[in-house]
Amino acid sequence: MSAANQVIAVGGGIGGLSAALALSRKGIPVQVLEQAPEFKEIGAGIQLGPNVFRMFEVLGLTEDMFHWCAFPEGLEFRDSITAETIIDMRIDQRFHAKYNAPYGVIHRADMLNVILDACKKSNLIKLATAQKVVSIDDDGSAVTVKTESGETHRGAALIGCDGLWSTVREKIVGDGKPVVSGHIAYRAVLPTAEWPQEYRLPKMIVWCGEKTHLVHYPLRRGELFNLVVVFHSDRYEEGWDTYGDPAELHSRFADKCEPVRTLLQKVNAWKMWVLCDRPAIKNWSKGRITLLGDAAHPMLQYLAQGGNMAMEDAVCLANQIEASGNDFEAAFKTYQELRYLRTARVQLMARVFGEIYHASGVNRELRNKLLADWSKEGAIDMSWLYGEQPELPKVGTIPLPEPTRLHH
Ligand SMILES: Cc1cc2nc3c(=O)[nH]c(=O)nc-3n(C[C@H](O)[C@H](O)[C@H](O)COP(=O)(O)OP(=O)(O)OC[C@H]3O[C@@H](n4cnc5c(N)ncnc54)[C@H](O)[C@@H]3O)c2cc1C
Repeated sequence: MSAANQVIAVGGGIGGLSAALALSRKGIPVQVLEQAPEFKEIGAGIQLGPNVFRMFEVLGLTEDMFHWCAFPEGLEFRDSITAETIIDMRIDQRFHAKYNAPYGVIHRADMLNVILDACKKSNLIKLATAQKVVSIDDDGSAVTVKTESGETHRGAALIGCDGLWSTVREKIVGDGKPVVSGHIAYRAVLPTAEWPQEYRLPKMIVWCGEKTHLVHYPLRRGELFNLVVVFHSDRYEEGWDTYGDPAELHSRFADKCEPVRTLLQKVNAWKMWVLCDRPAIKNWSKGRITLLGDAAHPMLQYLAQGGNMAMEDAVCLANQIEASGNDFEAAFKTYQELRYLRTARVQLMARVFGEIYHASGVNRELRNKLLADWSKEGAIDMSWLYGEQPELPKVGTIPLPEPTRLHH
């Protein structure tokens, strides 16, 4: 592989590996540089909207993703103070017919492994770990990076897929640290056998509380359960992937209904994240360097779309590079133009959905009433998010999967 025409992808998470795969499908060689000693995702679930299933189809990953996914039958919102159901939506044939694709959930490790295995099969992709990029230079005709261990890599262009704390973004945008939201997430995964029988339901359940919420859903074809708990706290400034403090968690949920408190007791070891995002920008490409995924547009998790957006970026970017005849500067500008309003909308709406999930007082009453009214009228339409996008390739209807059966 000639270094002259290869693209360097900094970061080998969902975004970096998807970008490498999408570019390789267009015949473009890619060198992936990942700082960690191995390509690895954290032990937690990730939700997959119909929009990302279209990207799986483009990248030839549908069958393998289907193998590892759980396909919930519905999405139910409950009030975590009264335990009442606010809205119970089906994810059924009607949902599938509307978006021409399913809604799934998957263990992050399974998702990353599917993409990684596809990358390993390509002779256009070079994968390197323990390569923390510390400096980047674009001299107008090529990009050179240096890693912490002193190695140098050269490429025709570079994609910063290095996440929320992106080094590449600091170089080309330079807008400092992400915005700390004051929202903290605790996550855990349990074998289904350890999950209370009463809540072994093949659906996603969101318990909305004042300044808190809890979500659970089955994972890995029903063998596991994923639990995410979020509350407001100004105790933490930054950092992620550390062990959480169960005592703090239980105190935050002390006033919630009995089922919520019981579910929290099921977990002994929690991992904790300080949730951050950034205001949307439209200048994430400069010369032969661009950004993708969380490096370009980090968002809060309330729409469950950060990873989905990274995969959409990857497909769009590869198409633009191909369309430009490998004129990277031009392609990076067009890609940014085509993507920034879509990703900005998701960044902004994720914040709005956070307000809705965590509403207090009158706003909580209003949320419960509006959601109930809208569901009766059939007015909840997520086409803006889950529907086809002009900048992304059209695909045929993706098969309707069998709903997941739980292991009892
Ligand atoms: C609580 C929570 C729940 C979420 N739920 C969902 C969901 O349900 N659905 C969804 O789509 N998204 C979800 N997300 C968002 C999703 O996790 C992210 O948007 C996604 O991981 C972004 O992928 P990425 O590849 O851009 O960045 P990352 O996953 O952060 O990957 C960046 C990679 O770059 C590497 N790296 C960093 N710096 C360097 C460097 N200098 N040199 C080399 N390598 C480097 C890192 O080690 C890492 O492997 C959630 C996020 C959170 C916090």
